[in-house]
Amino acid sequence: MQSAKDIPTQLRNRAQLLDGAVIAEQIKQEVADEIAQLWAEQEVRPGLAAVRVGDDPASAVYVRNKMRACEEVGIRSEHHALPETTSGIELADLIESLNTRSDVDGILVQLPLPGGIDDAGIIEAIDPAKDVDGFHPVNIGKLSMGRPTFVPCTPAGIIELLERSGVPISGTNACVIGRSQIVGRPMAQLLLQRDATVTICHSRTRDLETVTRQADLLIVAIGRPGFVGGEHIKPGATVIDVGMNRLTDEATVRRLFGEGAEKRLDTIDRRGYTLVGDVNPTEADEVAGLRTPVPGGVGLLTVAMLMRNTVKAAKLRRGL
Ligand code: NAP
Repeated sequence: MQSAKDIPTQLRNRAQLLDGAVIAEQIKQEVADEIAQLWAEQEVRPGLAAVRVGDDPASAVYVRNKMRACEEVGIRSEHHALPETTSGIELADLIESLNTRSDVDGILVQLPLPGGIDDAGIIEAIDPAKDVDGFHPVNIGKLSMGRPTFVPCTPAGIIELLERSGVPISGTNACVIGRSQIVGRPMAQLLLQRDATVTICHSRTRDLETVTRQADLLIVAIGRPGFVGGEHIKPGATVIDVGMNRLTDEATVRRLFGEGAEKRLDTIDRRGYTLVGDVNPTEADEVAGLRTPVPGGVGLLTVAMLMRNTVKAAKLRRGL
């Protein structure tokens, strides 16, 4: 097969970018309108409680962004930041008290939790009716049966992005790289529900490129900076990059961003890192038809969908 590198630069394809920011803003505006209506008609204001344990800097940023979004759309929010030394029992007690509070509609526990606390046990302690992340086994079970439920925010946001951008799903070959509970598996379920032919790849998949090159729609969620290159992508495919990796290494930045590397290196100077996805953007742009950027792609949609799930929980809990 001819490689993208063999094609003169001026003849190479340039993938169009799918703009997550615009669609995330649309969704947040719709949620804000729904909340204003809920207040006007029922005097209900949805409430979200975020729980974070320890000092992981990335988790602190994610929770801060979620709290900021709550303020933008009119959700009442509270942030429980617990010390690293918190025990599983103390955390479960907090969850239990949030479960019983009528002013809390949604509970999110920012993962990963520090070692020593059983993530799965804590997620199972959340009332499924308040599980706005869609991680509780009851909600995962409903999703896999194709029944209405809280859908994990990242894959739900990707579906919104595809549908609102007019990217076809039904009948396409879709490939998801990654089989995590929070992204890969629910992503595959949602694509299957929309009649895609779905393949799930993971670290034991043999000859990954041959499998991924069949995909019209390639969703990458592995947590390895710039891992997916031009050789993994079918010409013209839509590539959704879920990865959020903090990169500090200059050589890798130069390899991934080519002419755009200087801007990224400036970001490293200012912030200490630059955020990159699991897809090599320079190579992907030479082969793909559409691509999501990092940042500015899937991450913003994840937060918007959390807002939407919280309003949904507030309504369902009150039978509205
Ligand atoms: P995870 O739980 O670590 O799962 C990674 C998956 O990738 C696993 O299924 C693993 O396979 C697979 N994998 C790893 N190396 C591979 C390789 N060389 N070839 C093929 N598959 C490979 O990760 P996650 O929580 O799903 O997150 C993935 C990425 O998405 C991370 O960068 C994370 O930060 C990002 N993320 C972003 C958002 C957002 O809002 N944008 C939300 C969530 C996550 P095995 O199962 O065989 O180990």
